[in-house]
Amino acid sequence: MATVLCRDIVKTFDEVPAVNGISLAVPDGEFMVLLGPSGCGKTTFLRIICGLEQQTSGDLLIGGTVVNDTPPRARGVAMMFQSYGLYPHYTVRNNIAFPLRTQGVPGSEIEKKVVWASQLLGIEHLLGRRPRQLSGGERQRVALARALVREPTALLLDEPLSNLDAKLRASARLEIKQFQQRIGITTIYVTHDQVEAMSMGDRIAVIDHGQIRQVGTPAEIYDDPADRFVATFVGTPPMNIVAHKGGYLGFRPENVLPRDMIDDRAFTEFSFRVDRSEYLGSERIVYGAMEGFDPNQVITAKLPPAHVAAESIRPGEWHPFAVRNSA
Ligand code: ADP
Ligand code: MG
Repeated sequence: MATVLCRDIVKTFDEVPAVNGISLAVPDGEFMVLLGPSGCGKTTFLRIICGLEQQTSGDLLIGGTVVNDTPPRARGVAMMFQSYGLYPHYTVRNNIAFPLRTQGVPGSEIEKKVVWASQLLGIEHLLGRRPRQLSGGERQRVALARALVREPTALLLDEPLSNLDAKLRASARLEIKQFQQRIGITTIYVTHDQVEAMSMGDRIAVIDHGQIRQVGTPAEIYDDPADRFVATFVGTPPMNIVAHKGGYLGFRPENVLPRDMIDDRAFTEFSFRVDRSEYLGSERIVYGAMEGFDPNQVITAKLPPAHVAAESIRPGEWHPFAVRNSA
């Protein structure tokens, strides 16, 4: 296992920066999530770490060694692509064995490692099949087994769950996280999905336009966002941000509640004009305007529906609400 250290990595394509000065230290065994919108440079950054792309400037160290000019295979990291990249005409066994074959590993050794990797992922029974005979979740495991078969010191995953349906995604999230904890491999996991980032990351690096905006634990990112971008990118519905006394005030929708539902001491009362309300089963999202603030700015409240009779919050009327201090 190894630490991954990036120092001021820049990558430009035709003088346009895709990665614009990223410094990041991922300690041995950490599950680091890179979270950011599409096009912010996540894939380019991963490709630089595994050596498929050469950085324009900056240093990359893996396990304490500078690998700027080290070819991909010699870096000891494995990358699993968004599309999985399985060979359709190969069996699962041969797909997993492929990286070992290209390295000239002897046949008996290959078979041992293929069995080891397929047991690790629980896919021994699929070794004779071809990719088209597998479900999305099974393909994902085969791709993971192939990434791990060379026993890499670090694992790079590029949006590995984006091809799965929502239900499978939730279970795969948990599986990947448990699996990573079990083998303790340093992992860099790229996603644009904040739920994946929050639920899986030991730490999250939030990226925008090729730059890191904040690195922290999920709780730090959520409770103490470094800037407006982080504040509104993480959390659904996004944080409310209003102009206030020459600055800005941010508060999460779950801290906007009817006045009589709040029993803490720390809150600020206001009148809320409810415009629209959505019942989502586990919660109710209410949209409206706050008295004393821009009447055109939509403020969002996220209420536990059990406590809120639908009829008690009527659209078009002003209701006594309050913002609860989150800290
Ligand atoms: P993400 O994975 O976060 O969606 P990418 O790393 O794929 O972002 O892309 C970041 C930016 O770099 C995008 O604007 C993309 O168009 C550009 N880019 C990526 N690869 C290339 C390339 N090979 N040539 C030119 N531009 C590229
Ligand atoms: Mg990408």
